[in-house]
Amino acid sequence: MYKCLRCKKVVTELIEGKVMCPYCGYRILMKMRPEIVKRVQAR
Ligand SMILES: [Zn+2]
Repeated sequence: MYKCLRCKKVVTELIEGKVMCPYCGYRILMKMRPEIVKRVQAR
């Protein structure tokens, strides 16, 4: 998931190799982490 820094819309589908907002055409997108909580056990 990506978030456009210009229009603040969430971009879920992104063409690989082409980082561009499909809504406004802005090229700077912020990578978002999916909200999956992973538990890593310490040894
Ligand atoms: Zn945008």
